[in-house]
Amino acid sequence: MAHVKLHIPGPVEVSEKTFQAFRSPMIGHRGQGFKDLYAAIQPQLQQLLHTRELVFLSTSSAWGVMEGAIRNLVTKKVLNCMCGAFSDKWFDVSKRCGKDAEALQVEWGSPIRAEAVDKKLATGQFDALTLIHNETSTGVMSPLAEIAALKRKYPDVMFIVDAVSSMSAVRIEFDKLGIDVLLAGTQKALALPPGLAVFVCSQAALGKAATVKDRGYYFDFVEFQKNAEGHMTPSTPSIGHVYALQSKLEDIFAEGLDARFARHEQLSGMTRDWAAGQGFKLFPEPGFESRTLTCVSNGARPGGRTVDVPKLQKLVKDQGILIDGGYGKIKGTTFRLSNMGDETEATMRQLFATLDKALGQL
Ligand SMILES: *Cc1c(COP(=O)(O)O)cnc(C)c1O
Repeated sequence: MAHVKLHIPGPVEVSEKTFQAFRSPMIGHRGQGFKDLYAAIQPQLQQLLHTRELVFLSTSSAWGVMEGAIRNLVTKKVLNCMCGAFSDKWFDVSKRCGKDAEALQVEWGSPIRAEAVDKKLATGQFDALTLIHNETSTGVMSPLAEIAALKRKYPDVMFIVDAVSSMSAVRIEFDKLGIDVLLAGTQKALALPPGLAVFVCSQAALGKAATVKDRGYYFDFVEFQKNAEGHMTPSTPSIGHVYALQSKLEDIFAEGLDARFARHEQLSGMTRDWAAGQGFKLFPEPGFESRTLTCVSNGARPGGRTVDVPKLQKLVKDQGILIDGGYGKIKGTTFRLSNMGDETEATMRQLFATLDKALGQL
């Protein structure tokens, strides 16, 4: 069957070069070959996340580490900052882990604001918070630096941050932000196949995890640290993913971090301009639009154009491109276009031309 190119916000298109690396011959995960591989990429991962801490590799999708963070770090009560499908779900997951949890819910399309977080943390009830930097369901990017600045005011609160759809596309300086956990699954901004997550923990987080009971084994952060010190993972990792990650890091540093961030900024700007040019409004509150995907309003916001989204999707798919038709409760009243991964000005122009043609046929 002919491949349909992915312009959905995850999984995203994976390059031939990445797949070549992914299918490298198998090696043992306790042998020198694996240790050398992990040791070789560790400094690049640290440079990417701007950290001196060891970066961990988890063979799971992002949710494994998202749930793991709750199990490792929450003893009192967790504040789940909620502004879309993924961040809302984290509240549910916290409760399923048997933790005391409270919602800081804002309307979908709005960002999480530091003032609201401050107000909640001031109650003194919380020892952890969860935040999604780039809420993929709504295309909203929350002001991470402003929220992270609260860590200085509340040093005992664990700041757990999901950067699944922003890591490597937007500069995130882990050590400087002073947050405690930063995590991402690899199938979105990093453009690898799904099945691996990358994360880093502060010394404070590791120290706290060591005191927390019932944190299990597979996602035990203390185990990750102990193993990473010897360039290993607690259990057998998806070794193909680690080769793929090595290849992707090579691409990232060949392009250069600044150039990569600028490319995402430019391509998301082009997408917003395309939407405006076609008479659409955007779903996110102005000023908080994501740099990796565009959530276009199709009736979710007053004014602007509305179209038959499933029909549009079908016409675009017939031309070999898959776009997203909106997530959860905004399915159909929004649609999303991704510029994550290896997209270029040329590939985005191809997407816009295909969309233009399809819109002309509606
Ligand atoms: C996709 C996504 C997740 C969940 O990832 P899985 O791979 O399904 O575990 C979590 N957070 C954000 C922001 C996402 O975009």
